[in-house]
Amino acid sequence: MKTEPLSVTRQNFDQWMLPIYAPAPFVPVSAKGSRVWDQNGQERIDFTSGIAVNVLGHCHPELVSTIAEQASKVWHLSNGFTNEPTLRLAKRLIDATFADRAFFCNSGAEANEAAFKLARRVAFNRSGPHKNEIVAATKSFHGRTYFSVSVGGQPQYSQGFGPAIEGIRHVDLNGIAALRDAVSSKTCAIVLEPVQGEGGVIPADQAYLEEARALCDEHGALLIFDEVQTGVGRTGELFAYQHYGVIPDLLTSAKGLGGGSPIGALLSKDEYAEHFSPGTHGTTYGGNPLACAVAEKVIQLVDTPSMREGVRVRHQRFVKRLEVLAQTYGVFEAPRGLGLLLGCPLTAEWQGKAKVIVTKAAQEGLMVLQAGPEVLRFAPSLNVEDADIDEGLDRLERALSLLVKQP
Ligand SMILES: *Cc1c(COP(=O)(O)O)cnc(C)c1O
Repeated sequence: MKTEPLSVTRQNFDQWMLPIYAPAPFVPVSAKGSRVWDQNGQERIDFTSGIAVNVLGHCHPELVSTIAEQASKVWHLSNGFTNEPTLRLAKRLIDATFADRAFFCNSGAEANEAAFKLARRVAFNRSGPHKNEIVAATKSFHGRTYFSVSVGGQPQYSQGFGPAIEGIRHVDLNGIAALRDAVSSKTCAIVLEPVQGEGGVIPADQAYLEEARALCDEHGALLIFDEVQTGVGRTGELFAYQHYGVIPDLLTSAKGLGGGSPIGALLSKDEYAEHFSPGTHGTTYGGNPLACAVAEKVIQLVDTPSMREGVRVRHQRFVKRLEVLAQTYGVFEAPRGLGLLLGCPLTAEWQGKAKVIVTKAAQEGLMVLQAGPEVLRFAPSLNVEDADIDEGLDRLERALSLLVKQP
């Protein structure tokens, strides 16, 4: 074995990695706040936050010191032992939400997996095996495990992997009549993203979420909010349900929760949590002290009035400028979304070309996301500086003007 560090390039990805991604042509090597530097020293402004993950930007000094401090105490024990960071994180989430109990895992998909299993177990225990249907939204995204991808409303992600998981129904988001038709005494849960993220940054209507709540109450089903993308301050409240005032029975979190260190969570009321007992579910890494210590610090820093106000102000700053860019270039429409989860639907002429825009923006020094091929998505850190917002949108404007000249 060589002892010096190997030198690697973007090309090596195509040789050595499972070909399930098509990463950008550059390789980031360091980052600070909302700026990222690649192997060639090119700097870019980051409006992606690692897909709505780095809520406090890259390498936030308090998160760096928290992880370093915990790393010198204890990293991992397994769930044969509990640990202080896990318990402190649980208490903070319980105090800040509707929930009485928490379960920690390592990703959004795992959090949803746990939520779906719990909802089915509650229904099984209370009513029997016939009550197993999960109602979900078309275009929804809940992760890539086989259960979560099956509940997700994008069939191309679950096809070709063997026998389908049964008992899942899909209805269009915000279609109240179809939702009423789909829910019955066989329904064990309705699962919704308060704002569909991957599906195109589409907020649920107030009336739709209220109807989902009422239907769950009527049929003894659990209302699950997948807040993996919308949670942890992203929309300007700690969780998006707090905007709507519609209280779920189960809530899943991940992405922003660790501020960049991998962690997922399922939050539950007592009356549902008690249907799990030792052995019914589990994880090796879940709730490890390293991830939980960081997440606890993230919650402490994000769940404050000034952070909520800051998201509102930054939202306005983004929206104002994006509206002008929409008007000027005709590439996308005005943004939709909540807080700092914004999506600009592409105009008819640019349908399917989100990747072209993302690529051009990266050349001009800006990292942005797409949400499907038809929507340009912005999910900057919650503390992104005004100067970075302005400079980032200047760079986007440069990319747009180049694209419009020579598409
Ligand atoms: C990203 C996402 C997931 C999946 O999270 P992973 O950590 O990738 O497993 C689930 N639900 C929503 C709403 C998401 O945005």
